[in-house]
Amino acid sequence: MPFYDFQCSACGKYARLQFSYSEYGKVPPVCPHCQSQEMKRRISRVAVAKSEDARLDSMMDADLSGLDENDPQSLGKFMRKMGQEMGEDMGDEFNEVVDRLEKGESPESIEQSMPDLAGGADLPLDA
Ligand SMILES: [Zn+2]
Repeated sequence: MPFYDFQCSACGKYARLQFSYSEYGKVPPVCPHCQSQEMKRRISRVAVAKSEDARLDSMMDADLSGLDENDPQSLGKFMRKMGQEMGEDMGDEFNEVVDRLEKGESPESIEQSMPDLAGGADLPLDA
């Protein structure tokens, strides 16, 4: 099952939560620290957190050496590569994020302009 990263709006802590595809968007994320349901999804780690598959983990270990999380273009390139490696249609939302990262836009800026991403109620893999 995929992992999703959230930041709690109530206590400000980060949490990585696991949802099945059928649960995600229906089951509200709950903060493990304060039990608040005011959880905001974090976008910049979407690709990194997508799979617990061991093969992908080892592949990511290798690829992460060239990844500068503070460089949007590096992050975008990484996410695009991950999407291709996954062999899945990552959806229009993912593609838009990657495009904008590659143009040098910051993840924070992208997140602000795409309210659906921050709402946590969307289905990122719903193609
Ligand atoms: Zn909390």
